Amino acid sequence: MPPRKKASRARIVAVANQKGGVAKTTSVASLGAAFAELGRRVLLVDLDAQACLTFSLGIDPDAVDASINEVLLGHGDVTEAVLECDDGVDLVPSTIDLAGAEAQLLPRPGREYALQSALEPVLASYDVVLLDCSPSLGVLTLNALTASDGLIIPMPCEMLSHRGVGQLLDTVADVKRILNKRLRILGILPTMYDGRSNHAREVLADVGQRYDLPVLEPPIPKTVRFAEAPGVGRSILTTARSSKGAMAYREVAESLLPRL
Ligand code: ADP
Ligand code: MG
Repeated sequence: MPPRKKASRARIVAVANQKGGVAKTTSVASLGAAFAELGRRVLLVDLDAQACLTFSLGIDPDAVDASINEVLLGHGDVTEAVLECDDGVDLVPSTIDLAGAEAQLLPRPGREYALQSALEPVLASYDVVLLDCSPSLGVLTLNALTASDGLIIPMPCEMLSHRGVGQLLDTVADVKRILNKRLRILGILPTMYDGRSNHAREVLADVGQRYDLPVLEPPIPKTVRFAEAPGVGRSILTTARSSKGAMAYREVAESLLPRL
């Protein structure tokens, strides 16, 4: 008999920052499409009740049969919630109902492990799972950090944009100590970078040292292309294939692969 091939298992990466508008969702959609271009099997999970990732991939959250909400509460199998998207990635969508899931999870024992257990049945079918977190450090984000091997922290290169990162790092330290020893911070991902601004360059130079964290390269440039992409249900990797933003996300994805 030929030797059994070791079953491959997806690496799970959370994209989190409790600040809103820092490009979490944009980074999940773009890195997901970039990993898919590189031939990886990719699953994206929308963990925000605003369902921006779901919308941006061309799916109407009001029209889905099963979402991350049912999956987290154990009312359905994750395989029933997975949708195929045009960007070559699969998605577990979110809906506004997720806003209530947090409260329903709270009294449950082992509530931080709900996502990890729910994802288990599909991990053999993917190489990378990216989790798009909501702008909070609540139960849903704790679930994401507990399920993950890696964490990416998107951060705009602007003054005050790193306020709150200390609190996120404290939470990560707690999660590592109590819930998930595997969790590693892959790095800060500088977003909305304007290379012409001295201030942006200073923030970029300072941020890694300040938190003693790796800074992913290259920084993602600020471009209006990102605002246009979600309207057509595709990420800028397809709508603006050779834009600077798309190229930057591709480079970041390539640099991450050996570390996953
Ligand atoms: P979050 O998920 O952290 O709330 P989003 O990904 O939704 O952030 O991004 C917030 C807004 O910023 C969106 O309108 C998005 O189109 C825009 N945006 C994201 N990345 C960039 C960028 N590199 N340049 C310009 N606008 C961007
Ligand atoms: Mg978002």
